[in-house]
Amino acid sequence: MSTQLVHTIAEVREAVASARRQGLTIEFVPTMGALHEGHGSLMDLARRPQGFLVVSIFVNPIQFDRPDDYERYPRTLEADVEFCRARGVDLVFAPSIEEMYPQPQRTFVEVTGLTEHLCGRFRPGHFRGVTTVVTKLFGIVQPDRAYFGEKDAQQLAVVRRMVRDLNLPVEIVSGPTVREADGLAMSSRNRRLDPEHRRAAPAIYRALQAAAARVAAGAEDPGEVRSAALRVLEAEPLLRVEYLEIVDPEEIQPVAGITDEVLIACAVWAGNVRLIDSVRARPGRGEVR
Ligand code: AMP
Repeated sequence: MSTQLVHTIAEVREAVASARRQGLTIEFVPTMGALHEGHGSLMDLARRPQGFLVVSIFVNPIQFDRPDDYERYPRTLEADVEFCRARGVDLVFAPSIEEMYPQPQRTFVEVTGLTEHLCGRFRPGHFRGVTTVVTKLFGIVQPDRAYFGEKDAQQLAVVRRMVRDLNLPVEIVSGPTVREADGLAMSSRNRRLDPEHRRAAPAIYRALQAAAARVAAGAEDPGEVRSAALRVLEAEPLLRVEYLEIVDPEEIQPVAGITDEVLIACAVWAGNVRLIDSVRARPGRGEVR
């Protein structure tokens, strides 16, 4: 089976229309490239016998709040296309900025409420950039199903809410976070860690596990659970916590007490690399996988 690489919206529409004529469903995994097993697991979830699998690779400038992060974001298109080929992807869509954003662009999509905390608080405009590009990609690919990782838990909640609120005809499917053997969540940004910071980074997941263990043990006070995680992170001098919050998994609002499933999410700086991770935890049970 062959993987087709295209750069224009017209080519995507043509390939998708042809797949539909063959009676195939359209399965879609949006990415920013620098592909790893986290993306691979979503492709595995999305590959179906009667499906046409589309992967987009686009480093979306309007979701970056820092120009340096955008510039330094890894770009590995050739290897990514190989990765997609090995994973049975039918179509890779890698548009240019001009293709995606003919100027001037006057329309943006914004989800309110769910974007006030966690990354939304520290990355102004980030989610507006995400929801705008995802809406555009949905309009281009017109998928039956789109696949998102739980690794970006707030993004997943925001996209689900956008689809619900705007009645978009697409089903959102989520996949669990894929981790390295030492627990570090896979991320394209991990490539930018120097060896020292790479060694320190697994403390992030250990901290989240410590918090989930407190929830398992019956702790209801978010302050207490948060402190358990912060103790682990503070023991690692190479890491700097941007936020660590305990929120409702759907509304992404801080909880006053832990009586139901919660999302424990953090952003941590390892040198000049910002890493995010999260776990869901249930009272009496701990981490939900
Ligand atoms: P990105 O290329 O980082 O924008 O990610 C594209 C998609 O892959 C998003 O839905 C992410 O949530 C998902 N993803 C990224 N890292 C992981 C991971 N470690 N495990 C599972 N999904 C992931």
